[in-house]
Amino acid sequence: ETHVSLLHVFFCLQKYFFIFLTRKFILFLISKWKMKEHAEKPVTDEYFESYENLEVHELMLLDSARTGAYRDAILQNCELIKDKIVMDIGCGTGILSLFCAQAGAKKVFAIEASNVAKVAEEIATENNFEDVIEVFHGRVEDFRLPADIEAVDIIVSEWMGFYLVHESMLESYLFARDNFLSKDGLMFPDTASIYTAPCQLPQMFELWEEFNGLRMSSFGQRLRAQKSSRPEIMQLDQSQLLHPGELLAWIDLKTVTHEDVDSIGETFLMLSQDFGNFQGVCIWFECTFPSHGDNLPITLSTGPKDEATHWKQTVIVLPDTSILTVEPNEAMAYELSIKRNPSTARGYTLQLDQIDADEVDHPIPCDCILTKCIVLKSHLAKFEGRCDDEEESEEEDENEVCDNEEEEQPRE
Ligand SMILES: [Zn+2]
Repeated sequence: ETHVSLLHVFFCLQKYFFIFLTRKFILFLISKWKMKEHAEKPVTDEYFESYENLEVHELMLLDSARTGAYRDAILQNCELIKDKIVMDIGCGTGILSLFCAQAGAKKVFAIEASNVAKVAEEIATENNFEDVIEVFHGRVEDFRLPADIEAVDIIVSEWMGFYLVHESMLESYLFARDNFLSKDGLMFPDTASIYTAPCQLPQMFELWEEFNGLRMSSFGQRLRAQKSSRPEIMQLDQSQLLHPGELLAWIDLKTVTHEDVDSIGETFLMLSQDFGNFQGVCIWFECTFPSHGDNLPITLSTGPKDEATHWKQTVIVLPDTSILTVEPNEAMAYELSIKRNPSTARGYTLQLDQIDADEVDHPIPCDCILTKCIVLKSHLAKFEGRCDDEEESEEEDENEVCDNEEEEQPRE
């Protein structure tokens, strides 16, 4: 049987690697294996199994930007939640359910597919919310509301992955919306945006040009080549962005469909805000939450200028051959797309196409330093100036257009 042969292989291997293996390690491996065999009706999906590692939950709980945003969105707007029926999708340790219970929710259905569900139940009891929070150990797709409850008033979920959609938990969030949320129900969060900006990556390029007084560029080059097949998850400093960032997608979570996010793509033309090297493309996201009355909506932002989160930023490193040295107002162009892989349910493909800035349409007027844009802009300024003279227009906006460069229009 496989059982025996696996053990056999294991002990054969052990003969060769005995120096590295302690008995404790062997016992751990065997016991883990046995546990898996004996678990009744295990959730076999690797994705859910990974959430049984409590360190993942520790990381998320200690992410104060994340936890704080949800806490503030829920507790500062408790009027929205008081006496309402709430559903928490992928509740993990159940902290969002607890915030909702604190805000006065009548009932919280906390859905969790992994075994952390047991911990969530214990924590609810620890906080005397066992009558409010009902933990369902399973997938939201298998959940049924009690017969006397028709729909829930609020859905909360921290479903976001790297570059927002990685892991595709959005699917479950939307499934819950379509199957359990009342018509005027609220979603926490209710909008999501994905941003992108060109960036420089000195920690991957310049660092190896001079490392401890030595040149290690051939190492740097190979390292980058090795990393180039997949995006890097890293925290950038704001100063590394060559542009404040543009919107790749804005998602209204109340109305978006699953198919809407199957493929997201856009062509960008951005002008560098500084001298630098266009070495990569940075991607991050932002979510907003519903707010009560005049309260400003709470925003959870994961960009380089925001408090660092466990999502960091997603960075696509450009191949060495296409690095551009840029100066202020120099145009950079690229096309970025995020597409769901039809083969793996939870996978997405990020694609970056660098485009010659000369080959894309520039706005009119354009502030970039390409000759055609400089010429066109100065012509427009002259033309605007003439129009102003003829019509004796004194509008402030036009004044601004005419203000620059050679032809200063005399104004009273
Ligand atoms: Zn231009």
